[in-house]
Amino acid sequence: MFGSLKLGRFFGIDTNIHGTFWLLPLFVLVSGAAAGDVTAAFGQVAFLFALFGCVVLHEIGHALAARYYGVRTRDITLYPIGGVASLERMPEKPHQEIVIALAGPAVNLVIAAGLFVGMLGGAVAFPRSLAGLSATDPLDGFVTQLLTANVFLMLFNRGCCGLP
Ligand SMILES: [Zn+2]
Repeated sequence: MFGSLKLGRFFGIDTNIHGTFWLLPLFVLVSGAAAGDVTAAFGQVAFLFALFGCVVLHEIGHALAARYYGVRTRDITLYPIGGVASLERMPEKPHQEIVIALAGPAVNLVIAAGLFVGMLGGAVAFPRSLAGLSATDPLDGFVTQLLTANVFLMLFNRGCCGLP
């Protein structure tokens, strides 16, 4: 049950989901059902998958920066607490290590900026009333939540590529 499931191969790097990862959506669904709001729980699970999509991109950022310096990445694995990119070795020079460490958070910065510009552009092109959105539109909340989550990933997702 706690083995890893292969999610796919991105940029030539095997990406796996660890068995324990599924405890997370399971927990969200069970607690949602217990609270009597399964619909909201499914929304949270959808957010969870979108969030972990961003985590995968974060890890790929580390992996591609590592590849640039000739360091291969064995694989990327998703755990309930986050993702880990297993680099085959440490880069030779300290500045390379810094670039690899920063490449992950940089991806989240780009995603957050993209979501922000998208939201802004959407707000300009389609005023809320015109688009028929209420102040508490769930899709809008989803994007805001994902944007916030990416800022958190950028600031706090540390040590996930085996670098300090
Ligand atoms: Zn990272």
